[in-house]
Amino acid sequence: MEKILISACLVGDKVRYDGKSQYNPLIKELLDKYELVPFCPEVEGGLKTPRVPSEIYKGKVINKEGKDVTYQFNSGADKAVNICKYLEIKIAILKDQSPSCGSKEIHDGKFTGRLIKGKGITATKLEQIGVKVYTENEIEELLK
Ligand code: SF4
Repeated sequence: MEKILISACLVGDKVRYDGKSQYNPLIKELLDKYELVPFCPEVEGGLKTPRVPSEIYKGKVINKEGKDVTYQFNSGADKAVNICKYLEIKIAILKDQSPSCGSKEIHDGKFTGRLIKGKGITATKLEQIGVKVYTENEIEELLK
């Protein structure tokens, strides 16, 4: 079975910044076709759950209290890269709009709630090594 790296919150892990999950009901169908490898780059980068939300601004990741958490975000992304290399994973399904996992949209960096086109730190690094990143809204493409 082909392996897919997937945002841990999408399989129901309560790892979001607010301590909630983002369970996606298509997970069950995915499991018929793929082996899923759940991963949360923010937790793996050393951040606690729940945690202060962060956004990308001018190339850095800053949390809502003004703390620079770029190191932790990069650390989690680097671990995702290592896992994909080690397990020869070529596909990832990552939760869009996250400063780590977003691959189509992210928040504008000013905590206004506004979304802009852009990619999170982990999505960017995975694409740089050739992993094809899908959002949770594109899961059906993988079920065809
Ligand atoms: S970093 Fe990714 S996996 Fe972790 S909670 Fe945010 S969107 Fe989900």
